[in-house]
Amino acid sequence: MTSWSVDSHVLRDDIENFKIGKSILKEHSCWGIYLSNNVAIEVQQLTKRYGELVAVNGISFTLNRGEIFAFLGPNGAGKTTTVEILECLRKPTGGKAFVLGFDIGKNPREIKKRTGVLPQDFYTFERLTVRETVQYYAGMFDAHPDVDELIRLVDLEDKKNVLFRNLSGGLKQRLGIAVALVNDPELIFLDEPSAGLDPKARHGVWHLIDGLHKKGKTVFLTTHYMEEAEVLADRVGIIHYGKIVALDSPQSLISENGKRNLLILKKTSPQAVPNIEKLGLKANYDVTTGDVTVHLNHTVGVSEVLHSLSSTGVPFGELQLKRSSLEDVFLNLTGVSLGEEEDNV
Ligand code: ATP
Repeated sequence: MTSWSVDSHVLRDDIENFKIGKSILKEHSCWGIYLSNNVAIEVQQLTKRYGELVAVNGISFTLNRGEIFAFLGPNGAGKTTTVEILECLRKPTGGKAFVLGFDIGKNPREIKKRTGVLPQDFYTFERLTVRETVQYYAGMFDAHPDVDELIRLVDLEDKKNVLFRNLSGGLKQRLGIAVALVNDPELIFLDEPSAGLDPKARHGVWHLIDGLHKKGKTVFLTTHYMEEAEVLADRVGIIHYGKIVALDSPQSLISENGKRNLLILKKTSPQAVPNIEKLGLKANYDVTTGDVTVHLNHTVGVSEVLHSLSSTGVPFGELQLKRSSLEDVFLNLTGVSLGEEEDNV
């Protein structure tokens, strides 16, 4: 998988809509977040050892209420261990963590009451219908949610009498999200919610997560899809060998750690290179393809490059702009591309 995402990517409009919607939401909700008790998760020097192996190595971070936090890392980096500690499923060997104000070591019951969990590859009773499944899990909590309302929320109304085993992968994940919501949690852990889904089903899950965000829920998302993190997350944390190596908004991470944006001039003349270099930019000519790749920076724009070429009579045809993405940040910080990692599994 390439580490660049090309601007002409299908569904780009969807992504932009998400970003615009999220920024509006952020503007309107910031006071609510800061005036109330705004911390959803506080992790201090959290450590987990398995014998000699330090799976989680003294990590610290804070998650604000109402935000979507994406947790990324190569296989074996320590994501599941961290998340399962926060879900009170495993005990740390060092450090502290507070979830919704409760100490994971002292109040696991209070935390479980207030959190929802979608495990990776959600699976449940094959012969229960959608409605029966939600009803079954809802019965485990004192506060009885409106089962039909939950089914409506995950957009499964027309499937409510379909057996779990007959649902597509995307619909199973949506049902899993409904199950994670049966206790009306303040905080939801979603582990690879769109893994293995086709782009359409994945986008359905994104809309759902975005809807939870709009309802003011806090979402802790573990994902292998960089685009998912880039589109959905307010902040991204990257863990590598048990340590947090980066934590910031996707855009800040990209501008600090990503590559420069590239402009590709298809089938042009090698004469373009010295012309572009005069503008203070780096450029390479590929003899095989006849393309010139220009490494853009913040001071010289695309229009200046094109103007320089036209005024000196250098021909150029099709143009392609490749922008730096979270995938590049991940590759730079961990030395691994998640795409390559998956291919090698
Ligand atoms: P993946 O993306 O592959 O799920 P991860 O980032 O979630 O990986 P973890 O599952 O947290 O990583 O594992 C971190 C390290 O701890 C790995 O080296 C793993 O082999 C090891 N590990 C996890 N659980 C145990 C366990 N119960 N006993 C011993 N070692 C473990």
